[in-house]
Amino acid sequence: MGMDPRRLIPRTDVVLSDPRLEAAAARLGRPAVKAAVADAQRKAREGVIDPGQVADAAVAGLPLGMRAVLNATGVVLHTNLGRAALSAAAVDAVVEAAGTTDVELDLRTGKRARRGRDALAALAAAVPEAQGVHVVNNGAAALVLVATALAAGREIVISRGEMVEIGDGFRLPDLLASTGARLREVGTTNRTSVDDYRSAVGPETGFILKVHPSNFTIRGFTKSVEISEMSGGGAAGPGAAGPGAAGPGAAGLRAAGPGAAGPGAVGLGVGAAGLGVPIVADIGSGLLRPDPLLPDEPDAESVLRDGADLVVASADKLLGGPQAGLLLGDAALIERLRRHPLARALRVDKLTLAALHATLAGPVTPTWQALRYDVDELRRRTEELHGRVGAGDVVASVAVVGGGGAPELELASWALALPAGFAQPLREGHPPIVGRVERGQLLLDLRCVPPDQDHAVAEAVRSVAGD
Ligand SMILES: *Cc1c(COP(=O)(O)O)cnc(C)c1O
Repeated sequence: MGMDPRRLIPRTDVVLSDPRLEAAAARLGRPAVKAAVADAQRKAREGVIDPGQVADAAVAGLPLGMRAVLNATGVVLHTNLGRAALSAAAVDAVVEAAGTTDVELDLRTGKRARRGRDALAALAAAVPEAQGVHVVNNGAAALVLVATALAAGREIVISRGEMVEIGDGFRLPDLLASTGARLREVGTTNRTSVDDYRSAVGPETGFILKVHPSNFTIRGFTKSVEISEMSGGGAAGPGAAGPGAAGPGAAGLRAAGPGAAGPGAVGLGVGAAGLGVPIVADIGSGLLRPDPLLPDEPDAESVLRDGADLVVASADKLLGGPQAGLLLGDAALIERLRRHPLARALRVDKLTLAALHATLAGPVTPTWQALRYDVDELRRRTEELHGRVGAGDVVASVAVVGGGGAPELELASWALALPAGFAQPLREGHPPIVGRVERGQLLLDLRCVPPDQDHAVAEAVRSVAGD
């Protein structure tokens, strides 16, 4: 009191010599850092902060852009945290591709080459059942491309039980309708039969869409149709249900194409006489092959084997790669998609292609590891964290897959339980740590925290506890 607080406000050059701000100046440029300092000095002059807090406030006010966050939520694929964390191999690939690259050039011949050919080849190799593959910006873009190329001005036949909202108001039916395709809804919320599809398919049909309900389940009096039932394939084994080969009972939807209904009339898929309608399966999660840990999640290989003509999936969910939309299946259909003018608008960046290739060709992903992390080891790490911070309690926790699929799967886990008041300071710390608030407590679940970051978590908690 009495003394003019302005006299205590540290000078700009003094604040700028703070190592954190010097480091920031190298990355963001001096003007941006100076502006943050000026803003902090103004706050001190106005009495909003203490003069001693100017450097801290300037650091907090830096326009750092996106920041690395430690995911202590126990949600493996957290949409708000950018879904899948890339593997170290994928990160290296992104860094290498960041400059000028051979993304569309064959270095041997010096001629133009197919964009992202290695990533596409790795995808094709991972799903031998797919004759063609294509990659776009995300799962939604893949659906838009399919709907536009195969059904604009025509109908997409879809079950009422599969009209899904993915999240943040993104509703699949709205997305499909925005392409100019009409939705032909069949069945009810809880029950849809093969006959429902059969009576809806006709000359106006662009394709049948099967959507995997990736974030909810319907239980009780329910019925849905397997792709193998629609296609008349799959059940009898791969290749056994070719034209004319399916016996009674195996006759699927394609047997009911325009003018072709009747027992024994099969093989009307796009690969045959071109009279049938394609079956497109949106599997969501991006599993390429069956995973025993996730028995209820569909995978691309099995779905194609069951008779789907095209599979649509995201690359940044269970596959554990970068954001991308994968399209796999019938070669002629994939070629139609690739040649469609819209494909150019949906094409992926070289960084995405680099990360996708490394994800497919490289070692297991952080997503794969987090899903399988040994629960006893998690308990040990959590107890060690508890010992280091001397706060909170070690409690049993339940981790989940999250926005990427498997809504019913619960993964036994452990967490450090702290007062909920820790949540905000930890989020705003360096590095930011995001936990999960449950029943008035903040839970820090280390399942998705790289073990070499445990010390950073301990330090952050200690500093909050000490304040
Ligand atoms: C996630 C998801 C999408 C959307 O994929 P994005 O990659 O997020 O665009 C579409 N359909 C299903 C079934 C999904 O699970």
